[in-house]
Amino acid sequence: MFRLSSPDRVVVDVFGASVRATSGDGGRLPVGMRPVHTVVVDAGHGGKDPGATGRGGLREKDVTLAVARELRHRLEARGFRVILTRDGDQTLSLEERTARAEGAGGDLFVSLHANAAPRRGAHGVETYYLDKSHERHSMRVAARENGVSPRHLDELQRTVAGLRVSEVSEHSARLADAVHGELIGGIRRDYGTITDLGVKRGPFHVLFLSDMPSILVELGFVTNRGESKRLASSFYRDVLAESIARGLSRYRTRQATRLAGRTQ
Ligand SMILES: [Zn+2]
Repeated sequence: MFRLSSPDRVVVDVFGASVRATSGDGGRLPVGMRPVHTVVVDAGHGGKDPGATGRGGLREKDVTLAVARELRHRLEARGFRVILTRDGDQTLSLEERTARAEGAGGDLFVSLHANAAPRRGAHGVETYYLDKSHERHSMRVAARENGVSPRHLDELQRTVAGLRVSEVSEHSARLADAVHGELIGGIRRDYGTITDLGVKRGPFHVLFLSDMPSILVELGFVTNRGESKRLASSFYRDVLAESIARGLSRYRTRQATRLAGRTQ
């Protein structure tokens, strides 16, 4: 349970087998039956939470906001309605981010992050979605992005086990594949090389959205010399935004095709 301002309200999340989330308009079509109009773009961290700090003082919160703003322009040019969870250097809890996404009636949710690792050589791009099973190596990233220590993840995994994620996670997996494929392809086209760390599953709190396909993209490592240089450049951020926009368009087209096939 938490508070939101303007207008002041209290948000209570109720988890349980018999509870079905509905929006204020009296309920929406199930996720598989719905065309894609609105994309919620979440710039990770912000305000008091800088996220990871990398080489040369590059801050994750600045990278994610720059890419989020660029992504908004590119999505609007493609006819999407776009909502940013933050459009400035604000502090937002993970709960506030998901509440904004649900309040906006989002059809897709994309959370943008940059990676960090104690090993400076670590590099590459990876995309996550929420599922009841996770790979072990996802846990370190999930702990950092959730702002908890790795040993507190057990509790989070138990929460995920109680969520109704199976229906939506199939769509999240498709969304992750579409976006990740375009991202790797786009970076390779313009930069030649990128390490593809793949599509993975992890218990990210910000992906606890019962009603829309959701992914979290780790755009590169701010702790790696080559990648921090790229992430600091506006040209590279444009390549990232354009590739993600292309991936979201591809998902929208496939969804429209599926829906058309269903009504025939
Ligand atoms: Zn992050």
